[in-house]
Amino acid sequence: MKKKQKQETRVAQGLHYQDSSSGSIIPPINTSTTFARNSDYELISEKHSYGRDENPTFLLPEKMLSELEGGEEALLFSSGMAAAVSVFQALDQGDHILAPKIMYWGLREWLIDFTKKWGIGITFYDPNQPDVLRENVIKGKTKLIWLETPCNPTWDIIDIEEASLVAKSINAKLAVDSTVSTPVLTKPIDFGADIVMHSATKYLNGHGDLVAGALICSEKDPFWEKIRNIRLHGGAIIGSFEAWLLQRGMRTLFLRVKKASDNALKIANYFENHKKISSVLYPGLKSHPKHEIAKKQMKGGYGGMLSFIIKGGEIAALEFVKHCSVFMRATSLGGVESLIEHRYSIEGESSPIPKDLVRISVGIEAPDDLIEDLENSINNLGKSSF
Ligand SMILES: *Cc1c(COP(=O)(O)O)cnc(C)c1O
Repeated sequence: MKKKQKQETRVAQGLHYQDSSSGSIIPPINTSTTFARNSDYELISEKHSYGRDENPTFLLPEKMLSELEGGEEALLFSSGMAAAVSVFQALDQGDHILAPKIMYWGLREWLIDFTKKWGIGITFYDPNQPDVLRENVIKGKTKLIWLETPCNPTWDIIDIEEASLVAKSINAKLAVDSTVSTPVLTKPIDFGADIVMHSATKYLNGHGDLVAGALICSEKDPFWEKIRNIRLHGGAIIGSFEAWLLQRGMRTLFLRVKKASDNALKIANYFENHKKISSVLYPGLKSHPKHEIAKKQMKGGYGGMLSFIIKGGEIAALEFVKHCSVFMRATSLGGVESLIEHRYSIEGESSPIPKDLVRISVGIEAPDDLIEDLENSINNLGKSSF
């Protein structure tokens, strides 16, 4: 029997793609918005009818994603937000959901507004409180538990397996925003998740040159069919060029995520006891309160995202980022280049993020250059007029 190939091999080869007509090992970009029927008025390809539903260029990246996550099917969307929003729009009026207090900012803001207008109940839970999910579910009403792990930008860890037991006990769905961990490190479906969500803008593509999102289901059940219809009728589809770029970016996913994780761990270890930093938030550190859970559900690394809590408050935090010259001051994450940002300034007054927190997205550069840049910036604290 043929040995099952490693995912690293499968993804690097675009699932061993070969075009059946030309033999090209890279798929073409198909830009057609419509697909012809034969003289009996049957679609020539059953899969394709109109460009808002499916496009042949989506097929490879969608298959790569469902294989990576161990799911039954994947759907690409025009952004991570479009993917996430589709899951919530599949709920009914009167349903109740649980979502973490600290989560991707744009989605939290949208949820507050959406749940109010659509008559959906929502409880934002503190993931650091034990048994918080079990205590906050409402039998017969809670239909969806949402979690993000590690959650942005404090990198708290939520136990996916534990959450899935709670979800199953009340017949609710468990959806996991796994953007930061990526399927290289965590496969939420293995721990009982029903739906995995990604902002493909981040690690999946990895090169900062497209906006996209993805959902992967553990099984194609009626809830998934609702989500598919929301994409079809709502029209939040990815463009064919972006879908093509995404399959290209994903071929190097394993290399990039492993290198970013290695770099991030080096940085976290180096700065953990630094005199000008009160704490380094990174699930790979033994001092992280949920390190053991991270170890269970993150394999081969702890990701490229970490945050520093800078001594001296907001002013010191802003001054610290001001001095960086290798790190670029910009939002977003998961690219090959390292970025640094003061989250509170981005999120504004409604933000629950500490003002002395600086978020770092570690890229694939030489770790010494990154450490030196951070060390220089930190040593310059208090030296410039501000
Ligand atoms: C960026 C991001 C999103 C939103 O994705 P977009 O592609 O920007 O729409 C959602 N969740 C997390 C964790 C993210 O980092």
